Amino acid sequence: MDKDTLKKEIIRLKEKHNVTIVAHFYQKDEVFDMADLSGDSLQLAQMAMEDKNPFLIFCGVGFMGESVKILSPQKRVLMPKIACCAMARMIDGKHFDDNVKILEKQGIKKEDILPITYINSSAEVKGKVGEMGGMVCTSSNAKKIIEKALTEGKKILFVPDRCLGENIAIMMGLKSCVIGDGKDPKEADIICYNGFCSVHQLFVPEDVEFYRNKFPGIKVISHPECMPAVCQASDFVGSTSQIINYIKELDPEQKVALGTEFNLVNRLRDKNTYVLSSTKPECPTMNETTLEDLYNTLKSIDDDKIMNEIQVDPEVAKWAKIALERMFEI
Ligand code: SF4
Repeated sequence: MDKDTLKKEIIRLKEKHNVTIVAHFYQKDEVFDMADLSGDSLQLAQMAMEDKNPFLIFCGVGFMGESVKILSPQKRVLMPKIACCAMARMIDGKHFDDNVKILEKQGIKKEDILPITYINSSAEVKGKVGEMGGMVCTSSNAKKIIEKALTEGKKILFVPDRCLGENIAIMMGLKSCVIGDGKDPKEADIICYNGFCSVHQLFVPEDVEFYRNKFPGIKVISHPECMPAVCQASDFVGSTSQIINYIKELDPEQKVALGTEFNLVNRLRDKNTYVLSSTKPECPTMNETTLEDLYNTLKSIDDDKIMNEIQVDPEVAKWAKIALERMFEI
């Protein structure tokens, strides 16, 4: 089937079966254009909760579909590709427990640890965090969540993204360390797990220097999943939705160099926009989903042979939901 026919079939099938198509900002244009709802992970989880259709097809990575299922268990959530975010894959429940034990061996009692997990983590990790009294955060609200968590007077164990944890610590004037970096975690306010986003690691301080030399006056914008040296050298650091809003306010003639995922950068502005890298920083897992996959998922509903439906273990879902709800309360 050619692309135009595929698009027509997608629209026909989603209307026939009352399906909402959701796409993250990092999806390919051909998929993004078919979405009823689009946004970053937090916006999508919130919009999905309010959506009334019985079926939701989530074009994104695995943890996003899981979050929707946890928050809206009555919904049938399908994913054209259950692609796993590289960062989320860096920690599972066992790694989480092992890292808590490492901290205990280093003299920090379990009851003195308050875990916070970035939303880019599996349901299993969110469940562990919820069970230990912790909560979820996103890159938009991480500072607010950490401020609230600090009022409990505990050490914060931040998983899985060491860059987001360290960037927030720098922003708030707090001390941080990464487990295994040789620093004493007892001295740190935020103890980060050693995970990272393979895409946002592609931006390096030399890229910032290059663009500043090439285009004096350029604005450098980065996502807090970038390494701290890049964020510190940027004019603006923000989550995906914050970056979009910041760019909207700029003069169209203002040159910008953006340190975030390629598909988003490519779609943001017609001109004066550069990717802050000599490479093409596409998220490989986000880019796995194609128009054909989306069509096949809808066809599976039509054929009553549903594919790639998201299921979360009820006990895991119970605690993961608590961790997510603690975030929404704040
Ligand atoms: Fe995961 Fe990074 Fe891809 Fe986002 S861009 S889904 S954090 S690998």
